Amino acid sequence: MPSIDKEAGRDDKAGNTDPSTNEKLADEIQQTVKFKIRRLPSKFLAHFEIVKIVLLFLQSILIISNHVRYLGLWQSFTEASSGYRDAFNDTVYHKTGFLDFTKIHSLHLWRGWVIPSLLASSAYVVPALLCLRHELYHWKPDLLQHYLEKIEQTRIGKRVPESWLHTIFKLYESKHNQYMENKIQADRQHTALQDSQQFLKIVRVVALNIVIASFCVLALWLSLLQTKIDTRNNAPLPRSFVPGVQFVIWYTINDLFYFYPHWISHTTPTISHSLYNRVLPGKLATYLHKLFKSSHRLHHRTKANIGLAAWYCSPAEQIVFNLFPALLGPLATQVLADSLGLSHTWGTHLVTLYVWLSAAAASSVLAHSGYRSTWNDPGKHDLHHERAFHPTAAVNFGTLGLFDWLHGTKSSLPAEETKAWRAQRDRQAALWEASRRSGVPLTKEQRSTVQQPDHSLVWEEDKDS
Ligand SMILES: [Zn+2]
Ligand SMILES: [Zn+2]
Repeated sequence: MPSIDKEAGRDDKAGNTDPSTNEKLADEIQQTVKFKIRRLPSKFLAHFEIVKIVLLFLQSILIISNHVRYLGLWQSFTEASSGYRDAFNDTVYHKTGFLDFTKIHSLHLWRGWVIPSLLASSAYVVPALLCLRHELYHWKPDLLQHYLEKIEQTRIGKRVPESWLHTIFKLYESKHNQYMENKIQADRQHTALQDSQQFLKIVRVVALNIVIASFCVLALWLSLLQTKIDTRNNAPLPRSFVPGVQFVIWYTINDLFYFYPHWISHTTPTISHSLYNRVLPGKLATYLHKLFKSSHRLHHRTKANIGLAAWYCSPAEQIVFNLFPALLGPLATQVLADSLGLSHTWGTHLVTLYVWLSAAAASSVLAHSGYRSTWNDPGKHDLHHERAFHPTAAVNFGTLGLFDWLHGTKSSLPAEETKAWRAQRDRQAALWEASRRSGVPLTKEQRSTVQQPDHSLVWEEDKDS
């Protein structure tokens, strides 16, 4: 193990601007155990990503609550939600008969429809807005200056020292520039948002699709009520191993029912040697391709990805592509558990349903964020959008990658790029550390060690649009 003399660089730093000093020192730093340990949290986050980390965290809470010490979190949540429902019942809306939540309560729709819809909508809207705060500025760089001037003119803005406001905006600007370094399609001529009209259209379409999602959750709940699902006593948590198994089944069902219509919509039967073209009669394959593509085309109007536009699609696509595959799993396991007489243990529990719906909504947005970060790597679906209408290079039609692997439509590029990106981040951290120790500033190239790959050669416009 090479030893590093921390002061070695400092002794001869006077006048030393040789970039190779930092390169050599960074090589040594990267070999040290201390550096490897320091990079572990970042590696852990990048490997599991935010949704899986939250799921693992919830699973460990469930194990603790079931086997170590009862935490009562779920019970508190259900009691609090009932409190909100009862408070709503006392409001003027109920008294005027505008909305009668007593009836809703009798069908358990508060817990089976209202709460999961609100959770899923929030899981969509919050990350979408977080992505948007950078995308808006990328789209119109003058927005930041505009908002700074507006804030300075407000009553509160006039009382805050000007230098403070400028510092806050400078901090945001540098955060934005950092964020832009991780934008996957940064080299493109186009941005995710083309003009204000398109932006407003995305907002309108997504708002409608959130409402549609809510009614599909209602349809799921009404279907679940036809089974032996226990709606009276929700307080006991599911057994620790059940949500894990159910999530594997639900993710697989989601991948299966998302992959095929999506694959067909992108793959032209006449030039394709794909399996669906060989299995289905020619006319049916062509009909399905045209039908799915006409619906799916809207989703690919945003050339570079943007989190908000994950559900930017026609109502038909929202139901067939996005909602049906995600909602089928919870219903299927409940029906199966019923038929096997195992509903008590293996039935769909409300807490598992809430987590699943929230995870599915958040995953949709994160897959479209268009930015690599320590918490999220949307490279797979981003490449799908980049190559969407390329006749032979279109790839990555599934969510898990299982059916893509089966049909040979999985590109190895995102995995290779993720590996390279992580190695570049490690190198960048080592270079900064080397510069701090040696006192030799990093060159421009050394400061931009992390680079997003350019796939612009395979970009192709949709010829049918
Ligand atoms: Zn997409
Ligand atoms: Zn697509």
